[in-house]
Amino acid sequence: MGKIILTGDRPTGKLHVGHYVGSLKHRIKLQNSGDYDETFIMIADAQALTDNADNPEKVRQNIIEVALDYLSCGLDPDISTLFIQSQIPELCELSFYYMNLVTVSRLQRNPTVKSEIQMRNFETSIPVGFFTYPISQAADITAFKATTVPVGEDQLPMIEQTKEIVRRFNSVYDEVLVEPDSLLPDNKACLRLPGIDGKAKMSKSLNNCIYLSDPEDEVKKKIMGMYTDPNHIHVDDPGQVEGNPVFVYLDAFSKPEHFAEYFPDYQCLDEVKEHYSRGGLGDIKIKKFLNTVLQEELSPIRARRKEFEKDIPAIYEILKKGSQKAEAVAAQTLSEVKRAMKINYFEDQDLIQAQAKRFLENIPSK
Ligand code: ATP
Ligand code: MG
Repeated sequence: MGKIILTGDRPTGKLHVGHYVGSLKHRIKLQNSGDYDETFIMIADAQALTDNADNPEKVRQNIIEVALDYLSCGLDPDISTLFIQSQIPELCELSFYYMNLVTVSRLQRNPTVKSEIQMRNFETSIPVGFFTYPISQAADITAFKATTVPVGEDQLPMIEQTKEIVRRFNSVYDEVLVEPDSLLPDNKACLRLPGIDGKAKMSKSLNNCIYLSDPEDEVKKKIMGMYTDPNHIHVDDPGQVEGNPVFVYLDAFSKPEHFAEYFPDYQCLDEVKEHYSRGGLGDIKIKKFLNTVLQEELSPIRARRKEFEKDIPAIYEILKKGSQKAEAVAAQTLSEVKRAMKINYFEDQDLIQAQAKRFLENIPSK
């Protein structure tokens, strides 16, 4: 059995640096490693509609933004299949059948869905589609028989749910589906990058993001206005490093060589942290360093984006071709699923012959 990657993003906005360190950067490394037989990258528009049903235009507009972000970060359509979820109807069919294998109480226990419901103030008006999106995610992953799903930490409950569905399906019907493994970034700071407002997660829906496509001055403005330790009022005050987003970003983005080059008073990040905790190091100085580090990472991405923006129809063509290829793979899995579930009536000649015989001989059905 091959090694297959499936992962994706909701087109609810442009991609941000949280996506980049949490998942995107990793995908590109995996794509280029040559260790995987197939890489499928999905723009999850159908999932985005589960909590944006009344705003289809937002989802429609952001498909191309996400695709541009993918390409400018280095996803290569010659190696990875880039596709749009809604264009693969097989995924809906799979979801429908998997729904029979999951209980309502199991869905209610999903901690990510729970906190997202709270965040969106859905309370008693949770759309059924949103509530069941972990099942649809299981369909996305299993349709491609993915073995590996590179994601951020918030997606772990979805992978767990997928594994349960796979086990249940394979034990009730037949060994058709493949249990996936999640792949998290090694760097702890990248698991869940906080927002520039200090909130636990940078998220398109929370409006606290630095976007990959933000112009240079916008990135700088956001960094300079970033939340830090609110008790670190004077430069001499001791500062809190733990949970301080500026330091989490430095943990995520700074490299050992950055210090000699841009911050020569310090040899490594630990020295900077130590000085900040002790007192005597101002926020502005660290933010300026962070800005330099981040601009270094983002400027080639920005430049590549400008190139890709010159031929937008070509990008839709890439997504169309990718969707056609993805559909063929999903259709194959769906046909195996239907056979295992005994709903493949017309291709089952044994069934047709046996029924014919039964009626001819008047044998009562079992
Ligand atoms: P939305 O608010 O619409 O849910 P989002 O910002 O959470 O958007 P998704 O499209 O849901 O983004 O997530 C895509 C991928 O990026 C997932 O694998 C998720 O785990 C990862 N990811 C999202 N935000 C972060 C973050 N702040 N830090 C690390 N990884 C993240
Ligand atoms: Mg999300």
